Amino acid sequence: MSEKTLNPFEIAQQQIRKACDALGETDELYYLISEPQRALEVSIPVRMDDGSTKVFVGYRVQHNDAPGPTKGGIRFHPKVTKDEVKALATWMTFKCLVLGLPYGGAKGGVKVNPHELSKNELEQLSRGYAKAITPIIGEKRDIPAPDVNTDAQVMAWMVDEYSQLRGVGQTLLAVFTGKPIELGGCLGRKEATGYGVAIMAREAAITKKMSIENSKVAVQGFGNVGSYAAKYLYEMGAKVVALSDYSCSIHNDEGIHVPTALKYAEENGSLKGFIAEGCNISDREDIFKVDCDIFAPCALENAITSRNADDISASIIVEGANGPTTPEAEKILLKKGKFIIPDILANAGGVTVSYLEWVQNLYHYYWSFEEVQDKQAIKMKDAYKNIVELMDEKQVDMRQAAYMIAIKKISAPLRLRGWL
Ligand code: NAD
Repeated sequence: MSEKTLNPFEIAQQQIRKACDALGETDELYYLISEPQRALEVSIPVRMDDGSTKVFVGYRVQHNDAPGPTKGGIRFHPKVTKDEVKALATWMTFKCLVLGLPYGGAKGGVKVNPHELSKNELEQLSRGYAKAITPIIGEKRDIPAPDVNTDAQVMAWMVDEYSQLRGVGQTLLAVFTGKPIELGGCLGRKEATGYGVAIMAREAAITKKMSIENSKVAVQGFGNVGSYAAKYLYEMGAKVVALSDYSCSIHNDEGIHVPTALKYAEENGSLKGFIAEGCNISDREDIFKVDCDIFAPCALENAITSRNADDISASIIVEGANGPTTPEAEKILLKKGKFIIPDILANAGGVTVSYLEWVQNLYHYYWSFEEVQDKQAIKMKDAYKNIVELMDEKQVDMRQAAYMIAIKKISAPLRLRGWL
């Protein structure tokens, strides 16, 4: 298997093994948390606009519910596989534990290119998927959210479908998060993951005795996570020198005016063709070669490999995407003394604010945008501090310290509940 197509679930298992060994944990614990508790495979028939019926394959994986109900996004992507969803569900458990959220992890996915569907077909697929996983989800059981290529509208259709099936006349809001504001959504949810990436980059700059102001930043991926990460880093005073998406990368050593790039991508669907004074457009892979202090991979997994790791000049790497660095690439980066903020911390802003949305739905009491962002920042900075303290104490890298904290946290409910 080439490094670029490494099985993400095997990577997740290797990470767990390494942290269990460092903690001197038992094999029983490793076996219990290295496989998900439940993996449901579904087929979803969709009546297409031309009258034909197409069947799509989807998954919902619940990694471990010992700490509480499970939680995790739903991805619509042509490359979705069962093992990818298993890996993402596993990472969600660790992410929730690192942040001190009362959840285990889950994830869902449908193998589809949603850009090839009409709005009506997308709605039918979203409803069909929600219906197919209804038997195993619920506000106290498993709470899905958006991920790659799913958004608040998709969540709204799913809430409607679930409420019809399980609500018997009631609207059940707390079973999905990442909903539209007008339908029980949370202010600050849309911005949360990118905002968290920016906060973590700023904390790392403080640790490394750098200043975020005028630090040169490159952001790979300009979707939900990457665009808000770039926006908040720009507002913090960083010099965003490069951005990329699936179509190209843009580079300006003097700094890109991020609000203009955001507006352009919103109006044109991508950065392709972006023209601004001093900006060069080139191949999307060129982003790895840009001279910068902070690099934020915010696209998909396995982006940083042994082929491009050496090209990265940044001393801080903040993983906005899930699993963006292969183990081989990580070795290269750590050897060169790079400071890597692992995905399970760096992109945990989304699930943190999803948790706040769930709490608000259960209480029917809603917070302002500022209150939500303040609560998010406090939780993420606390998690960062705990991880850095353990990292210094045990002389391990940040990812390993984060896994060690999460494994310690999950071993308690597993033992208390008598599963070990
Ligand atoms: P998205 O679909 O909104 O954006 C993905 C972006 O990556 C797009 O701009 C796309 O053009 C770009 N991209 C794809 N392939 C690329 C390539 N080879 N080079 C450069 N850019 C490329 O997805 P998103 O919600 O922003 O999620 C991105 C990552 O963050 C995923 O790994 C996801 O699991 C993770 N994540 C998302 C959230 C969330 O709240 N949305 C939360 C936690 C983690």
